[in-house]
Amino acid sequence: MIIAIDGPAASGKGTLAKRLASHFGLPHLDTGLLYRAVARALLDFDHPLTDEKAAVRAAQALDRVHLDESRLRGREMGEAASVVAAIPAVRSALVDWQRAFARRPEGAVLDGRDIGTVICPDADVKIFVTATPEERARRRFRELAGRGEDVTLDAVLDDIRKRDARDSGRSTAPLVAAADARLLDTTTLDIEQAFKAAVAFVDGAGRDGAKAKS
Ligand code: C5P
Repeated sequence: MIIAIDGPAASGKGTLAKRLASHFGLPHLDTGLLYRAVARALLDFDHPLTDEKAAVRAAQALDRVHLDESRLRGREMGEAASVVAAIPAVRSALVDWQRAFARRPEGAVLDGRDIGTVICPDADVKIFVTATPEERARRRFRELAGRGEDVTLDAVLDDIRKRDARDSGRSTAPLVAAADARLLDTTTLDIEQAFKAAVAFVDGAGRDGAKAKS
């Protein structure tokens, strides 16, 4: 079973994807980490984030070792990742890697921006997770402040709006819900409620799939 979870920054999709993966016993790939790792590699070697050749080389050289989360999680890395993610050649260089992960015999949960539309258009379940920018900013602010980052709520909201505009406005694989995705608005839900709703979508898709096959 392949579960595709997409949605904007800080919508709660990462937490949901992790919980679903553990609930259904599936491996999980946070695809945002791939773009973050490419951005990190460019910054480490003082390349501009718009250096397409260097970005593609970094994308081709990625392996799981580069996905060491703590170095990639900071506020500025999300912004940098969205700049490299807008380069079509970088996206192409990462497609096979993601699809190979999804093709594992037991299935997988992948979360990102284009999983249901581009990476796994045939996923068994697609969930598009959203929340208002203000609520997402509050969540991201709490998370960053909890990690000791020196930020203000206004700055985080500004980041989120910029990132939404860049991710939704790019020409290749923009952030958009797949036509057959289930929408999950988490603005007024806590994580337990969002998780239950997502499990119901997956269970429902399993039943519909079984009906379609019988
Ligand atoms: O999900 P996360 O915030 O870690 O993603 C960082 C950035 O990577 C996003 O803002 C987006 O530009 C890019 N991304 C993407 N496609 C994905 C996952 C992330 O373009 N599948």
